[in-house]
Amino acid sequence: MLSLARPDIGPLEVELVNRVLGSDTLSLGQMAVDFETALAGYVGAPHGVAVSSGTAGLHTLVRALGVGPGGEVVTSSFSFVATANAVLYEGAVPVFADIEPGSLGLDPGAVEAAITPRTKAILAVDVFGHPCRLPQLREIARRRGLYLIDDACEALGAAVTARDAAGGLAAPLVPVGHPSLADAAVFAFFPNKQVTTGEGGMIVTGDADLARLCRSLRNQGRGEGDRWLVHERLGFNYRLDEMSAAMGLAQVRRLDELLARRALVADLYRQRLAGLVGAGMGVELPAVAEGVTMSWFVYVIRLAPPHDRDAVARYLADRGVPTRPYFQPIHLQPFYRERFGYRGGELPVTEAAGRSGLALPFHGRMGPDEVDQVARALEAALAQPQARRAS
Ligand SMILES: *Cc1c(COP(=O)(O)O)cnc(C)c1O
Repeated sequence: MLSLARPDIGPLEVELVNRVLGSDTLSLGQMAVDFETALAGYVGAPHGVAVSSGTAGLHTLVRALGVGPGGEVVTSSFSFVATANAVLYEGAVPVFADIEPGSLGLDPGAVEAAITPRTKAILAVDVFGHPCRLPQLREIARRRGLYLIDDACEALGAAVTARDAAGGLAAPLVPVGHPSLADAAVFAFFPNKQVTTGEGGMIVTGDADLARLCRSLRNQGRGEGDRWLVHERLGFNYRLDEMSAAMGLAQVRRLDELLARRALVADLYRQRLAGLVGAGMGVELPAVAEGVTMSWFVYVIRLAPPHDRDAVARYLADRGVPTRPYFQPIHLQPFYRERFGYRGGELPVTEAAGRSGLALPFHGRMGPDEVDQVARALEAALAQPQARRAS
């Protein structure tokens, strides 16, 4: 059976979760601390703050950075809805800038044009595990006095190559989440992500004060030392429980293996689908920019005319191949249309990507036979006359 996504849980996860279940500490224990240390260490960040979801992490950061009513955050509409919702939760306004066609990340020029005197932060997104232009965005943020938050919920394990003084590529690779790339980043651990804890997320930052504030906010506004029932500020219950943290710790210990398996499957797809790509054929495979290490979250191809993406998806579904349109832009979601009056046409690159993206079944345990099964069904789908637009 082909599945769109699948977690990769091994004996180490079972062992560590069982250790928690055999203890008396199911929350606020050592597992969460060890998970924070391991994951933050993996990306070279001094501080990790485990939270109950990626969404909770984004919301906590928006609150902690003081972005409130009247404030604006420049962000991407080509993302999961949580990115912009985190801004709305605080009564601030997400201002969408368009993306680049290749990386599908924020276009630095469009970001610059979207900044106003009310802008408080840039909230960038590393789409599908491809880092966006973080060094350029950081430079804009520095120049304009803004925070840069990286929604890295899809990009644990991705990296960018640092540039030397002359602008050339120079080693070493800098992991997404490293404090040189953003003021803070958020990872997410929903079951379709590279690392899962069931539900969970983590904020990473190089800023000790910001980390302290986030720890307080996730734990009902308690102060340092977590004195019970002493609340210094309005906080939330965004804690990660110990069973989830144990899973996360096991997954981080296996992270190189998990990422390598996914990269292998992406490579199988690339080889197997290479024949569908060519001038005028209307099929594009994921592009990885020079100097970038991709962390494969999903495998999203793009279908342009003459192909009808939705007809191809229906054909595949009828043959047991699950797919998903990826992403449906945030500004075109019913709730955003209604609230902000978006009608389409505002963000041409985002909207074109939204019309053409199709996520194929993808996880680290897929073998060559399954990739071949998807590829054969896709080839057949693309050959169907009804899978072509009527134009
Ligand atoms: C998964 C994801 C989130 C939110 O993560 P949850 O853990 O599901 O709350 C946020 N942003 C992006 C881009 C994501 O892919």
